[in-house]
Amino acid sequence: MSDKPVFLSNSAAPQDSGICLCVLASGSKGNSIYVSDGTTAILIDAGLSGIEIERRLKSRDLSAESLHAIVVSHEHDDHIRSVGVLSRRYGLPVYVSAKTAAASPQLKNLKKTVAFNCGASFKINTLNIHPFSISHDAADPAGFTIALNQKKIGIATDLGIATAMVRHHLQACDLLILEANHDPDMLISGPYPWHLKQRVNGRTGHLSNRDSRILLEEIQHQQLQHVILAHLSETNNTPEKALAEVCLAINPLYTQLTVSSQDICSQLVLLNSSPSESLEVCHV
Ligand SMILES: [Zn+2]
Ligand SMILES: [Zn+2]
Repeated sequence: MSDKPVFLSNSAAPQDSGICLCVLASGSKGNSIYVSDGTTAILIDAGLSGIEIERRLKSRDLSAESLHAIVVSHEHDDHIRSVGVLSRRYGLPVYVSAKTAAASPQLKNLKKTVAFNCGASFKINTLNIHPFSISHDAADPAGFTIALNQKKIGIATDLGIATAMVRHHLQACDLLILEANHDPDMLISGPYPWHLKQRVNGRTGHLSNRDSRILLEEIQHQQLQHVILAHLSETNNTPEKALAEVCLAINPLYTQLTVSSQDICSQLVLLNSSPSESLEVCHV
């Protein structure tokens, strides 16, 4: 698995076994995150069409042919739309919990699956991945941490509340992708029907800007180099509101705060493994 070239050219390749990450899309219409250490490249979720994921990878000088696996957080359509297509097209194994796979006809019939259990770490080639349970209205939803050379990435979207387990696992991250789904006032006064407002705001729905700030106030530390806000509602939030709320929890002297988008993939973010190197945002 390790002989695939991960990048189309050298320009995007991590120089020292760092972690390179790109949020290809984030939001209720589709989610996918590209993560690579220069040797192993994976997608966390594939919730856009296969063609769109290929297009967005290419726009950042990345290649779908270089992928080694897809990891699935949960069975909602905005996270799995092209998991089957990409798995078949590129022969990719799909790492998914058994309960999640059983909950979706699309995932149940995949040929190449590897089951993981929330709470038990697993490896994909050189990447160490730890899935942990989150509170969301799916069969067995997971957040993830990915560790490499003493660097740690945390990924937590689609969670109604930040449980003690979530707060525990997201400690000591160097880079965090964290949900900031809605502004509570916009949700309450917005156009959603009452049952949907209750679902979004509930314990198994989505994390608000305010809850995201409260979580970050607890787990922020000086080595947290970058927080990327994710899964923003297009109806009940704005990037400005999310940033204005969550920035209260971080110190801009050592933590960069950005927001991911539904329509445009993020810049490549490179987290170097050398302690002396700081995070770079690669402009491509
Ligand atoms: Zn989602
Ligand atoms: Zn979901």
